[in-house]
Amino acid sequence: MLPIKPTFMQYLFSDWNKIVSRIKLASHVLLLFDYDGTLTPIVKRPELAILSEESRQLLKALSYKRHFIVGVVSGRGLSDIQSKVGVNDIIYVGNHGFEIEGLGLNYVHPIDNDEIKSIIGTLSQMLNNSLGTIRGVIVEHKGLTVSIHYRLVKKKETDTIKNIIQRVIETASLSDKVKITHGKKVYEIRPNVHWHKGMATNLIIEKYGSKRRKDVFLPVYVGDDLTDEDAFKLIENYDGVSVYVGGVNPQSIARYYLKTCKEVNKFMKELLKIKND
Ligand SMILES: [Mg+2]
Repeated sequence: MLPIKPTFMQYLFSDWNKIVSRIKLASHVLLLFDYDGTLTPIVKRPELAILSEESRQLLKALSYKRHFIVGVVSGRGLSDIQSKVGVNDIIYVGNHGFEIEGLGLNYVHPIDNDEIKSIIGTLSQMLNNSLGTIRGVIVEHKGLTVSIHYRLVKKKETDTIKNIIQRVIETASLSDKVKITHGKKVYEIRPNVHWHKGMATNLIIEKYGSKRRKDVFLPVYVGDDLTDEDAFKLIENYDGVSVYVGGVNPQSIARYYLKTCKEVNKFMKELLKIKND
């Protein structure tokens, strides 16, 4: 069943007292954060999205609290996101959920890994060759997926990029094996299976939420991009707290919004102040 979209997005801190009481009522709270654009501001090149020491310490402090289960969800490869965040004892979701690791979870989507890795490898190589002439394109090979970043590309050339990607996939006769998705100034080629951040979130909720059925389990998801909408939908179905980062966005299904990444830090600080015991 599709969730009912809230009539309007609310600023998270304007409903803070209600959120605090829901958190206090819950036996445990799952806190999932997207990385790029949520924990770190969007930057020109993906490798420059460095987590601030303050954010790292806040994630760490939250993970120490028995009440909270913390996770970072990303389209980046698993080892990339693990090394960028560098906090132990949290859940890491890499490649939009194709890989999940931490706090007892060790999941890889049951696609044929070897086959898909070789397909993605081939496509990365072909895309590097075909897109190499366009200034500013970054082809990022992430094992199970490949990203084509075009933030640095001249506007008039951005349409060409998608056409080239499509042509490369067709030339390689891989149209039935992969699909193209679109995020903030990035195209992604993923295995053509029904799997996304929402389903990864569901897997985590099933693991932790069903442990103690009598208790109230509250899932919270904070994200900024189109790929986070699948997770927001899921969170709304669980009557959790979905938070969009980037101000009011009528297109988003999230119930709440924060304006900037800085406010995500403020959110984490406020969460740490809540007395649960
Ligand atoms: Mg993001």
